[in-house]
Amino acid sequence: MPQHTPAPARICPACDGFAAVAITLGGRNHAGHLHTITAHCKTCQGTGTLPPARALLDTAATAAFTRG
Ligand SMILES: [Zn+2]
Repeated sequence: MPQHTPAPARICPACDGFAAVAITLGGRNHAGHLHTITAHCKTCQGTGTLPPARALLDTAATAAFTRG
């Protein structure tokens, strides 16, 4: 079955797109909510995606062919 999806952003391989997670610290506050902290993926900085390969290639080409 063909799937028609818009040009997909590259999903971060480190977190598989789940870039931010809440980590329970144990215990609850007076309202009964869990104490949590939010951790973001270091690889994608919490975005869940990486820049397109094209952009990376352009950046690399610019660096390689630019002469100071
Ligand atoms: Zn990530």
